[in-house]
Amino acid sequence: MTPPRASQSAFSTEPMTSPTAPRPSPYSVVPHVVRDGQDGQATTHKETALEAPPEFDPRNLFLAALSPTDQAILRSMLSLQRLPQGLVLQEPEQSIEHVYFVESGMISLVAAMQDGAAIETVTLGREAILGALAAFGTHRATARAIVQIDATAWRLPVADFRHAIEESPGLRKMALLGSELLLAHMQQTAACNALHTAERRLCRWIVQVQDRVGSDVIRLTHDFLAQMLSVRRPTVSLIAYELQQAGFIRYQRGRIAILDRAGLERSACECAGVLREKTQRIVGDIGF
Ligand SMILES: [Zn+2]
Repeated sequence: MTPPRASQSAFSTEPMTSPTAPRPSPYSVVPHVVRDGQDGQATTHKETALEAPPEFDPRNLFLAALSPTDQAILRSMLSLQRLPQGLVLQEPEQSIEHVYFVESGMISLVAAMQDGAAIETVTLGREAILGALAAFGTHRATARAIVQIDATAWRLPVADFRHAIEESPGLRKMALLGSELLLAHMQQTAACNALHTAERRLCRWIVQVQDRVGSDVIRLTHDFLAQMLSVRRPTVSLIAYELQQAGFIRYQRGRIAILDRAGLERSACECAGVLREKTQRIVGDIGF
């Protein structure tokens, strides 16, 4: 059975947190539960195991770059998981139990403040290993990880991953490069959030999401965008109106249709391109 690709599923229109719902404590540990119901009810999102294809042909860039020997070491430990939109994979201070190699879709790491404000600190796609540092010792999560677009990922227990990297220098190198790439993405995103305008960040975000979804239509709400970009909702409305007037997108009822990808790229900040180059360079190092 072929695992579902993110491009087959629409981006949910649900914001991460309903504006009317009570905000969960940013430091509470609520594994696999996120409060996103319209009435503030907790909705449970669960991982489900998928039947793995007989051929191991991973789309995750790090898994794909491994030698056949290292792939074989990991293969018996990996299970293919479906991660639905809204699933919280980790909360700050929670001990990390699993390592995820993202195959499709998108996961965000979100920094939450004590007053409930939150901002995305990095987006993770198929270039990402979530939890790789846990292999080097007792490691607790430093941010909330939430599935933003229906995803699939290869998963293995941290203890197994730790054993595997002790066995293989190639796997140890992969874990370090995966952590280096995550750090590079977070640094770029921190600079982007501080230095680039909301309009340029939104254009960058749409380009990145389109790359990961593989579709010209993205479903998301004003509230969701406002939270990811940490701007007020009217600001999102204004920017979306301007992008529509420029002919780049059509935005209706939480649905963004991308009409002019080149125009969006011209208006986006440099960060999407910088992150692509860093990803290629760091993943390319795995073979050396
Ligand atoms: Zn930027």
